[in-house]
Amino acid sequence: MTPAATVDDHAMLIDRLLAPVIGSLGSETVALPAALGRVTSTDIHSDVDLPLFRNSQMDGFAVRASDVATAPIALEVTGDIPAGHASPVTLIPGTALRIMTGAPMPEGADAVVPVEDTELVLGRDDGLEGAIVTIARGREAGEFVRERGSDLRRGDLLIAAGTRLAPRHLAALAAAGVGSVDARRRLRVGVITTGAELVAVDEELALGRIFDANRIALTAGIIDAGAVVSVATSSDDDPRTFRHILDDVVGASDLVITSGGVSKGAFEVVREVLEPLGASVGSVAMQPGGPQGTAVLDGVPIVCFPGNPVSTQVSFAVFLAPVLRRVAGLPPETRESRVLAAAVESVAGKRQFLRGIADDDGTVAVVAGPSSHLVAAMALANALIDIPHDTTRLEAGEKVTVWML
Ligand code: AMP
Ligand code: MG
Repeated sequence: MTPAATVDDHAMLIDRLLAPVIGSLGSETVALPAALGRVTSTDIHSDVDLPLFRNSQMDGFAVRASDVATAPIALEVTGDIPAGHASPVTLIPGTALRIMTGAPMPEGADAVVPVEDTELVLGRDDGLEGAIVTIARGREAGEFVRERGSDLRRGDLLIAAGTRLAPRHLAALAAAGVGSVDARRRLRVGVITTGAELVAVDEELALGRIFDANRIALTAGIIDAGAVVSVATSSDDDPRTFRHILDDVVGASDLVITSGGVSKGAFEVVREVLEPLGASVGSVAMQPGGPQGTAVLDGVPIVCFPGNPVSTQVSFAVFLAPVLRRVAGLPPETRESRVLAAAVESVAGKRQFLRGIADDDGTVAVVAGPSSHLVAAMALANALIDIPHDTTRLEAGEKVTVWML
């Protein structure tokens, strides 16, 4: 990498690095509940008509429209058709059948009179035998009848390829009897945080040690962007340990993200291990997140972020979240134009991503200092303020682009 790669250059480099993996992801069969949020890889056509059969839209009485044209009229009730009724029923002309919503329409009936427009006088033993219904008003043929195939015809497109399945799609699939779908496989992303100082959040602290914030930041970011975490682990700064862990994680992943160990200091374990393998490690003209690297090991792309927690999170938001979201069929994260609440200073020759609070009134205010260790302050932000590469100062009231978090 040239010393002063721009953010756009580096983003393009990462896109190119990931393209072969994304292109060969393939698909898998996923059962319905688990298919929520997955992206279909084929068109799905319906094997059935929807509704499956002609049925009643109301609780009421199935009649011939011509028999009730002269309403009010009293008709003999010759039976009951509850929902789920299995045997075919035929309406005797000049009579009515009591019918429930969703029950199959009897042969010979062409309208349903809703129960609200009727009065039923029960027959023998308070049953339907000999019962009489008085119909208050007439109905046109077809009224309150749901025709077979009126929603969708057999063979019609039910769900198109490339659809990210929401609850409404799952409902349509289930209604058509489709219990599983071919979905694009999700990218399996491995995470290795590095640093001899790191302890997991549930481990005991010791002098000089800190809790690992990046492992969870990256894990959560990956899930949020619609990918899956294959492994999330941590290495000390010993090259042998890191290499060993790296081989394992590469073996289980389509993409690996590392944090830390790519700066210019001593004990930069990611740089030490990956550079001899052909990695490109250098700096990108951005703040936070200057030191960046990329590598490929056994065909698996590796994206290396710096270790400061704000740098790691901004790097993920800028370089990986957009790609991962695209692969997962998620809409891009929103970028908005806002008005600066106060003047900001920036460094010449570096694109800055300041942490800000975007307000409902259209303004954005800087919420934290520029240092990339300010992990708690970042939690207060809801936006990154994108200050262009060559800008050194912007006044209150000037427009900026913000990346909503
Ligand atoms: P490095 O990029 O490895 O030089 O680390 C830069 C700074 O980030 C150091 O202060 C590290 O202690 C800190 N750091 C590195 N990794 C993590 C992590 N996973 N969680 C929290 N802080 C970290
Ligand atoms: Mg380190």
